Amino acid sequence: MKKAVVIGAGIGGLASAIRMAAKNYEVTVIEQEAYPGGKMSEIRTEDFRFDTGPSLLTLPHLVEELFTLVGEKAEDYLTIRKLDESCRYFYPEGKKVHAWTSPEKFSSELESKLGEPKENTLRYLKKAKRLYHFTADLFLFSSLHRMKTFRNRKAFGTLMRPGLLDPFRSLHQANRKSFQTKEVQQIFDRYATYNGSDPFRAPATLKIISHLEHNTGAFFPSGGMYKIASELHRLAARHGVTFRFNTRVNSLTTADGKVTGVEAGNMHVPADIVISDVDIHHFKRQFLNQEVRRREQPELSSSALIFFWGMNTNSKETGLHNILFSTNYMEEFRMLFSQSAISDDPTIYLYISSKMEANDAPPGKENWFVMVNAPADNGQNWDNLVERTRRHIIAKLESQLDMQIEKHIVVEKRLTPRDIEHRTSSEAGALYGSSSNNIFSAFMRHPNFSKQLKGLYFTGGSVHPGGGIPLCLASAKIVSDMIPKE
Ligand code: FAD
Repeated sequence: MKKAVVIGAGIGGLASAIRMAAKNYEVTVIEQEAYPGGKMSEIRTEDFRFDTGPSLLTLPHLVEELFTLVGEKAEDYLTIRKLDESCRYFYPEGKKVHAWTSPEKFSSELESKLGEPKENTLRYLKKAKRLYHFTADLFLFSSLHRMKTFRNRKAFGTLMRPGLLDPFRSLHQANRKSFQTKEVQQIFDRYATYNGSDPFRAPATLKIISHLEHNTGAFFPSGGMYKIASELHRLAARHGVTFRFNTRVNSLTTADGKVTGVEAGNMHVPADIVISDVDIHHFKRQFLNQEVRRREQPELSSSALIFFWGMNTNSKETGLHNILFSTNYMEEFRMLFSQSAISDDPTIYLYISSKMEANDAPPGKENWFVMVNAPADNGQNWDNLVERTRRHIIAKLESQLDMQIEKHIVVEKRLTPRDIEHRTSSEAGALYGSSSNNIFSAFMRHPNFSKQLKGLYFTGGSVHPGGGIPLCLASAKIVSDMIPKE
């Protein structure tokens, strides 16, 4: 039986392990931390449970497919519910909008609350759907680094239709043309942040993300987002995958231009195939001894500053996902990407899983995950930045939700870009690897295979096709499609 080693038990690593087990490989996953999931993680403290990473799930069939591959049914272990409402939006001047996942209901809501003609939203979502169906096979589910990919008519046709891809203007420029109201433009600009990008620079191709949320739907697994990682871990283990936690892989072993295994702790683990789920910048530095100059790499995605607050109250106005928009969205992103700073009026994302999962907080209380976009770590004075941003967040929440905040916080934990890097070895704490702030971003991400060493493959958010749960799962699929069955 051939052996595969997976370095890292992030979502890309777990999916790759399951796929390799399904190909009859003997699989070992080696993870430096004590738990599976990487960025998809959780904390439990004083009767509160918090997801600490992803909070929104799209394309759940990519998770379910992993169960089917090994002859199991996802629904026996995971209950993934489709949400009626994907988000509640709060604007500085007091307007509020429910973003329903149904395009019909959502477009009516935008018309009645913000005055945006219904047909504008429906037309936009229809175009986004068309764009997704036109591009997904090529850009999300195939390697962009093999000639084979381009040798079929559909892929060629996709590249020959730049009008449909819409890469030459920014997402914001496209949204300004599509919608009359600034508020609706801001909602659709926000989708660039789903892969850590700047809507004022990222290509309009990113409108496909709105298709995922409003046409195919936003989902939530019972038990919270971390349940996905824990169930994938259990699935892999049931199908023979060996996990070694608290074990750091230090180097690769090679012979004749091919990987032969890894050195981890004080052992050598032999392998015919090595799949790395490690951030590619770290991988190059640590495993290939390559110097990585940040300025020569594609621009990193944004990171996040998150406060986890156990609240001894229930907020009436809020739902599972909430966004409190800033007044000047363009300035917010200029500060984030050009000044590596956080605006004094940041857009706040508030995720309260206890709205769906009663067990995530004691009765009468709520678990608030309060996040603002933050620059990737650049040596900023995080102590100052965290305290200052905390004050701004509290002032904004108090005025917009019309409730007192500070006196209701009974538990607090924090996560900064530095912490994210420390825990997951992600370059500068970037959440999604490199950003899509450049028209060529899709082609600049690292391939899913090594051009130097045979048998070495790459999965996860820092390589093609990019960050976010669905794309990490897609990267595992691309890797597995390249490796023959045993
Ligand atoms: P990672 O999660 O980066 O894990 C890599 C693993 O490799 C880690 O466990 C690390 O410990 C291990 N490792 C590294 N080096 C070594 C070594 N030398 N030896 C052994 N192990 C090693 N995505 C969404 O789809 N929706 C969201 O709502 C969303 N929100 C997010 C919010 C936050 C706060 C964060 C942090 C991320 C969010 N994301 C979201 C992004 C998503 O979480 C990531 O894209 C995805 O989880 C990354 O998975 P990965 O496979 O790249 O591995």
